[in-house]
Amino acid sequence: MRPVSTAPSSSHYKTIVAGAGPAGILAAYHAAAAGPTLLVEARLMPRYKKCGGMLHQDTRQTLAQYAPIPDDIVLEPRTVLFRFHDWDRKVKKVTSLELLNVDRALFDEWLVGILPESIEVAAPCKIQSVTQDAEKVTVTLRTSQGETELTCDHLVGADGGRSRVRRELGIPNTAQYVTIQDFVRLEGPIEPYFDCIYMRGIGKEYAYTYIVPKGDVADIGCVYYPGSKQPWQMQDQIVRALRDAMPQLGETVKREASTALYVRSVNDVVPGQGRILLTGEAGGFLSPTSGEGISYAVRTGRLAGMAIAEHDSVDALTAYTKATSDIRADIGRKFRWLPVMESPAGKYLAGFVPRRIVSKITHGL
Ligand SMILES: Cc1cc2nc3c(=O)[nH]c(=O)nc-3n(C[C@H](O)[C@H](O)[C@H](O)COP(=O)(O)OP(=O)(O)OC[C@H]3O[C@@H](n4cnc5c(N)ncnc54)[C@H](O)[C@@H]3O)c2cc1C
Repeated sequence: MRPVSTAPSSSHYKTIVAGAGPAGILAAYHAAAAGPTLLVEARLMPRYKKCGGMLHQDTRQTLAQYAPIPDDIVLEPRTVLFRFHDWDRKVKKVTSLELLNVDRALFDEWLVGILPESIEVAAPCKIQSVTQDAEKVTVTLRTSQGETELTCDHLVGADGGRSRVRRELGIPNTAQYVTIQDFVRLEGPIEPYFDCIYMRGIGKEYAYTYIVPKGDVADIGCVYYPGSKQPWQMQDQIVRALRDAMPQLGETVKREASTALYVRSVNDVVPGQGRILLTGEAGGFLSPTSGEGISYAVRTGRLAGMAIAEHDSVDALTAYTKATSDIRADIGRKFRWLPVMESPAGKYLAGFVPRRIVSKITHGL
């Protein structure tokens, strides 16, 4: 594990990055070329992020430029294809999207390790408040030793879906939905897919279920949109239905609930303000159709760090906004398909549409 301090060593940095997730790590990596950089993380490190741990092709392509993803963080089956599964009609539609199956905690720990030694990492260390003027950004941090005030030329908000930095700019956080994941022991092999299952009759706000084998367990995740009543009971009902059809699904070894970004409008996607750049989920960058977010985090984090390294003062935000325009266009394209994909008719028709077209609509492949 890389050395982590409990408090910053200086009162001024060229760049401060809030949040040591994939967006923050890539932003810090590149911003360091401009001068002293501090990466602060609110939680103890190594952190644990509740996640499916499936890496999109875009994530792997981006990270290949830094270091190879080590074999020992990859679980069996190593890669799986994304498949739509209409449960009641027993229709399965494989797409061209191939996902790498990793242990998310080990992946996050490995990613911290790619940071150059020159970058200072402080944790647990939480951004409390932020102000900015024409010359600088001032942040108040809470560390284990109390509150401290620092200044920087640029601040990167990479502090996730409940971003404090974003709220401090007066931009409301995006709505959230609940995901519950059951990790169940595998008593025998299941099909090697990331199965995105649509079951009718569960409830109006129930969106979909995914199931993927991860080593000796299967991850069964269910997405409940805002307004869902009794998601825990729905989760029991869904897991029961899956077990009835797949006796290989053994006992639940862990159940965990988390919230995720419910991005539903282009207005939710905001690159920043003044000297403050928002990346990853803090900026609303995430796939509105699948909830996949690591590829958006690494790409926007990288572009934010590069914009800071290559441009001075407020020009960095202009450069970053321009550099992320195709990512925002991609999210916009997904917004346009969302009403179709989420409607019962769209889910029905997905069973008839050729694989090539389903892959294009859902993943832009
Ligand atoms: C159940 C679930 C399953 C998922 N599965 C997948 C998947 O299989 N594949 C995929 O690509 N995506 C998946 N995602 C989405 C993915 O996890 C996120 O989109 C991705 O981690 C976002 O990265 P990030 O760097 O923007 O933010 P995060 O990874 O959320 O990191 C933000 C960090 O900021 C820290 N922080 C928060 N507030 C402060 C503060 N005030 N000061 C300092 N630090 C702060 C947090 O502690 C956190 O460590 C899933 C999400 C959920 C909820």
